[in-house]
Parts: sequence; C-alpha cells; structure tokens
Amino acid sequence: MKPVQKNDRLNVYVEDLTHEGAGVAKIDGYPLFIHGALPGEEVEVHVVKTLKSYGFAKLLDIKLSSPFRVTAPCPVFDVCGGCQMQHLSYDGQLAFKEKLVRDAMARLGKLPDVPVHAIKGMDNPWRYRNKSQIPFGERDGETIAGFYRTRSHDIADTDTCIIQSEEADIVMRELKHQLHAFGIQPYDETAHSGLLRHVVVRKGRATGEVMVVLVTRKKKLPQQEAVIALIRNQVPNVKSIVQNVNPGKTNVIFGDETVTLWGNDVIEDRIGDVRFEISARSFYQVNPDQTEVLYKQALDYAQLNGDETVIDAYCGIGTISLFLAQKAKAVMGVEIVPQAIEDAKRNAQLNGFTNTLFEAGPAEEVIPRWFKEGRKADVLVVDPPRKGCDAHLLGTILEQKPERVVYVSCNPATLARDLRILEDGGYRTREVQPVDMFPQTTHVEAVAWLELGM
Ligand code: SAH
Repeated sequence: MKPVQKNDRLNVYVEDLTHEGAGVAKIDGYPLFIHGALPGEEVEVHVVKTLKSYGFAKLLDIKLSSPFRVTAPCPVFDVCGGCQMQHLSYDGQLAFKEKLVRDAMARLGKLPDVPVHAIKGMDNPWRYRNKSQIPFGERDGETIAGFYRTRSHDIADTDTCIIQSEEADIVMRELKHQLHAFGIQPYDETAHSGLLRHVVVRKGRATGEVMVVLVTRKKKLPQQEAVIALIRNQVPNVKSIVQNVNPGKTNVIFGDETVTLWGNDVIEDRIGDVRFEISARSFYQVNPDQTEVLYKQALDYAQLNGDETVIDAYCGIGTISLFLAQKAKAVMGVEIVPQAIEDAKRNAQLNGFTNTLFEAGPAEEVIPRWFKEGRKADVLVVDPPRKGCDAHLLGTILEQKPERVVYVSCNPATLARDLRILEDGGYRTREVQPVDMFPQTTHVEAVAWLELGM
C-alpha cells in the first residue's frame, strides 16, 4: 500500500535533489518528486501521479523556503526546458553538483576515500554558451522564437536567453520582428509548411567572431539581401552568414545542404593557445571558458613530459587531443563521427601539429587494433558520451595497461561504474575534479586521474 494517493494534498519536507534537479521528499520511505522544490524546504504539494515505488507531486506553496532559493532571473524559466536550476543560487548549484559526484563515487563506485576536489565554477555563470539553436514558429498569426518547453516541441517565446550570447538575443529579436516584413513565413512543424525553421548563432569566445545560420525548409530565401543587411547592421562582429536547407519532416535541426550567403564559411576560436575553425554544423564545446579549465585539468593529470604517446578516445573534433599534443610526443585520437575526424585533422594542420594521428571508427574496435599493430600508449584519455565507456574498451585498457588513464566524464554515475571496473583491474583513482561546464542546468562534468597499481 502506497503511503500517498493521487490527488492527496499534503505538507512535506524536501530532503534531496535528483540529478534532474527535482526536489525529493520521502513519505514513510516512499519518494515523491517535486519539480521546483529545494532541499531544506517545507512545501505544500498536490500528488499528481503514484507509481509502485515513487510518485510525482506538484508544488503548490512554499511554507519554509531554502536559504539558497533565489528568484530565477529568466522571464520564461517556468516554461522553458533549457535551464533547471535558476531558482537555486549559484553557490547552491555548485554544492549540488559536487555532491552528485561525491555520492556517485561513494555509492556507485564504492570509492568513499577517493579525494573529490571542490568543484570549479564560473565567476560569472551567465551568457556562457557559444551556440544558440533558436526554433521559429507562429502563434495567432505572430512570429514566435525562443526555446522548447521541457520534453516538448512547443516554443516558449522569448526575446532573451541569459545563458547565451548578447548577439544571439539580438538576432533572435530582430529577425522575429522583421520576418513578416521580409515576406518570410516561420516554419509550422505540424503542417510542415513555412520557411524559417531555426536560427543558429555561434560565437568564438576568444575572437568575438559570430556566425549566423538560417535553417530553411526550401532553398529560396525572399529578401535575402535585406536579411543579410539587417544581421550585419545589428551585429557588427558577424563574420559569416550561412543558410542550411532542411526539407525533411524531422526533429533534426540541420539538413545536408549548406551555402554561405555572406562572409566566411567558418569562424575561428581559441581554447588556450589552440585555434579551432568552426563551421555551421561542427561539434564544438559550448562553454569554452570552462572547457579550458577542464582540459587544463586533464592535461595536468596526464603528467606529460614530452616522451609520451597518448591515446584520446572519443576525441570529437580533437579538442583534447590538440591540447595534449602541445606537451606529448604523439597523440592518437579516435572518434566515431567521420566529419568530426575531418575537423580534427584540419584543426591539427591549422595549428601546425605534426605529432597527431586521427582515425574515424568505434574506439572499442580501433584502439585494440592499434595495440595489435604494435603501437603503444603511455597515457589514455577517454571522454565518452553519457553511457560511459564501452565494456570492450575497458577490457582493452585492462589488458594493455597504460600507465595512466585520464577519464573525462559528463555523467558521474557511469564514471563511478567505470572507475570501479578499472580499480578491480589494478588501477587506483588518485583524485577527481568536478567542473561546472553548464551553469543553471543540472549537467555536471568531472575528470578523474588513475594510475596503474600504486
Ligand atoms: N572529447 C571531445 C568530445 C567528447 S563527446 C571534446 O571534448 O570535444 C563524446 C564523443 O564520443 C562524441 O563526439 C561521440 O560522437 C563520440 N562517440 C560515441 N560513441 C563512440 C564510440 N563507440 N567510439 C568512438 N567515439 C564515440
């Protein structure tokens, strides 16, 4: 028998936050998840759903507020799905993320004694994103633009997003207000009609260069020159205006065809001393300031003196690889997306590195083959997607036993699981450094340093 029933109204004490940022109250051990509630709060809730071992409740009233509660500065925080944590002070967010990493280490990794350092946060945790993907649509005959609501394709219309660049706000606002005058119809997802689907704004943090991508359903863009003039007038640091054509009935943002309407095909950015060229569709870390913090930590843990060969598994466009190549004898990067490997090779060339090698393919297949071919690695860096490292790759690490493993992770749970496997196979985790790459959201990154049998 569940201790609460649907439609119950009750007062509860919130004791924890889930990794998705919902408050957790326990009623006789039965967890109720309450969106918007914070630990330490006493709240009145309405139970909306009860499952066998947990339920969901709606926050009605806060009887006792957390000292860490703040008023979310974003006007659409309640409806937009982009941020989950604006109602928690930044110090509170950092404490929450640090705890997620510590708890994962202790509970899932069975590593209660591994030092987890204080999380490295941002001095200014706003306007940090270098890429905005803004859906356009129509409501009651008016053009709307903003960001999707949680788990939906409804657009929360807004004129500003305070985790993105000022330039993104300007482009979003100006295009929204001028679109009608240009005779451009916003896209209608249901009817698959209209023209302008998304506007993507990218900005190089170090260079200030801006790229604007107009994603359209058809190639013909009315008033093209006027659109270009508007963007150039409003955003003087724009270096590239690009159109991407996506005729598909799909949620995927980009189509296959990209044409440059004005300026360069790419913009440039730097992380530390390494330069990167970014095209409309290239993958690139969205918070370069904190990426630099994270990669410096990874480089530090790699303990390179110039004689080492390093493998960078899950290398993307080679951001970590090129960082390591500054200090290593050689770096070999592997990544499953061929286009990303093309970018990695181009960026290696752009920076004049001659000690890098990149190959497209699954890390769990390419790396064992490299070893079979007689290549050696002193240090292995992994930066896998949320699901963590492939079991075969972990097996290969335990077989080949590189001296040192640096594990960059965007999911503390799979990080802890994989560290346990590596520990059981003879590695020791020396320390873990959490880094806040995505302020105002629940995402947390961490980097771990492992050495073989100490
Ligand atoms: N290290 C990069 C990217 C990390 S994101 C950076 O910091 O920018 C994780 C990457 O792993 C993605 O680029 C994804 O395409 C890639 N990936 C996913 N599964 C993979 C696999 N089995 N083998 C190799 N790469 C994979």
